[in-house]
Amino acid sequence: MRLLLVEDDVMLGKNLQQALQGQNYVVDWVQTGLSALAALQAEHFDLAVMDLGLPGLDGIRVIEEVRSQQLPLPILILTARDSVQDRVKGLDAGGDDYLLKPFDLNELFARLRALGRRNNAAVAVNEIRCGTVVLDTAHHQASYQNQPVSLSRREFLLLEALLNRPGQVFTRQQLEQSLYGWGEEVESNALEVHIHHLRKKFSNDLIQTVRGVGYRLNKEAAGQESGA
Ligand code: CA
Repeated sequence: MRLLLVEDDVMLGKNLQQALQGQNYVVDWVQTGLSALAALQAEHFDLAVMDLGLPGLDGIRVIEEVRSQQLPLPILILTARDSVQDRVKGLDAGGDDYLLKPFDLNELFARLRALGRRNNAAVAVNEIRCGTVVLDTAHHQASYQNQPVSLSRREFLLLEALLNRPGQVFTRQQLEQSLYGWGEEVESNALEVHIHHLRKKFSNDLIQTVRGVGYRLNKEAAGQESGA
């Protein structure tokens, strides 16, 4: 999943970006409200972690703007403001959850997993499933026909993006955005290489090429779920 981190404290932002990358999120970090809005308008994010006290445009204003544009983005508020009033304001503006600073990283991870699940209503646990293709997003494990499949971080992210919308055609650019943050170099054939590996590890027709458009997950090739 791709996550936008909005935090003006450089030390905290840096540490959080690293910690979240360690949880297999693709993380882009911005330090102002305006750059947060610009990022959200330019690209797709699955989650946002938002500080409220930001220079210039306040976090609350950013959340209000996101909601007024009806972007379906789960937002977790991070704030040192511990007054009830500020928390209420943040949630009323359209935040989905909040954590008070200082916080425990494990609690942040758990809350983000919960928000990610909410985004995908069909999922009961930290699991994305299509037929016999299963991804456990909490433990970063994959299986196919009940056998574990070992995936690289990017293979996992790519399959996660496709599995979240089975059958939908994704353009190459959309898929690359779910795999790489800004400043990460994308080699021109990297996506094809990841897709090639996924086809070998699962089945050749699991990921279909739609000529001139992009790629889609083929539900039929994911196999029949047994005993369900
Ligand atoms: Ca701040």
